[in-house]
Amino acid sequence: MNRPLLTIVVPCYNEEEVLPETCRQLRGVLHDLVGEQLAAPASKLLFVDDGSKDGTWSMITAEHANHPEVTGLKLARNVGHQKALLAGLEAACAHSDCVVSIDADLQDDIRSIRDFILKFHEGFDVVYGVRACRQSDTWFKRTSALAFYGLMTRIGIQLIPNHADFRLMSKRAVRELCRYGETNVFLRGIVPLVGFSATQVFYDRKERLAGRSKYGIRKMLSFAFDGIASFSVAPIRFVTSLGLALLAMSIVAGGYALFQKWAGETNAGWTSLIVSVWFLGALQLLGIGIIGEYMGKIFVEVKRRPKYAVEIDLYSPASESAARNRRHYSLTKRHSVLIK
Ligand code: UDP
Ligand code: MG
Repeated sequence: MNRPLLTIVVPCYNEEEVLPETCRQLRGVLHDLVGEQLAAPASKLLFVDDGSKDGTWSMITAEHANHPEVTGLKLARNVGHQKALLAGLEAACAHSDCVVSIDADLQDDIRSIRDFILKFHEGFDVVYGVRACRQSDTWFKRTSALAFYGLMTRIGIQLIPNHADFRLMSKRAVRELCRYGETNVFLRGIVPLVGFSATQVFYDRKERLAGRSKYGIRKMLSFAFDGIASFSVAPIRFVTSLGLALLAMSIVAGGYALFQKWAGETNAGWTSLIVSVWFLGALQLLGIGIIGEYMGKIFVEVKRRPKYAVEIDLYSPASESAARNRRHYSLTKRHSVLIK
């Protein structure tokens, strides 16, 4: 098999305004890729309807009836962008060599998909689409995104700056991703954890094609909190450090209170009260921090994240990873002939 079977996964939530145009443009992309022999003719467009309340699903079924390359997946209710996307990736994984995910509003440059595929042919398993310029986003969105990436980096979560969920993943990368059994999915954080060879393609982000952003301030905040809480125990550590700092301060405050007592400048009962308030406060915070540390450990354990992903397996040569590496070699050779 030379040309990779590609599936473009598009999560949609109340996107009836953009869907026909999105479908038309993405079909064009698929058609060109197949024409250029960069993707297999059976490549597909998979629209995931995330419990939309408008005519999104009927549009998807209509497109499916008219165009064999268009398929759909309807979720029983709205589960949010990340889970909808994961549903699409899981479904696509079985029937594709590589999967591209893109938002329905086409803010991301569809011309980059061709670059993604070229990178895939070069042998990369993950290709991140990175926004070179965010001028089309509102000031608020740009600033909050910047603050978010800054915070995530500071608490040790590895993210690709200015990369949203526009990316290509090989079959084996998606398969590894699906092994992450967590309920709070934050794909941007998990994909770099999966590993495999990755690269970036830069593009300019555009305005929404039509319709309004489906990420209100509430959804955005809960998304950001999910990102932090499902990847880091830093907030718990913060409580522990606060407890320790307060313990140190309670010693200073206790010393001061005792000194005042000896100097005879206190009312009866003040010293014991103030020493207890500081000391008990510090102990409580430290106690919560320590319990939190254990909870943090449980939190990491219950995720049951895979401990590793094998990239090349020479031990069992019939394995898929070995096959993929062989195939990449032949594809790269083949492609260098194609682009000559
Ligand atoms: N989306 C979804 N479920 C939701 C919210 C959004 O599937 O609950 C989809 C939406 O249809 C779009 C993508 O996620 O394809 C990104 O949403 P949007 O463009 O509104 O976000 P923004 O670009 O404003 O961050
Ligand atoms: Mg958008």
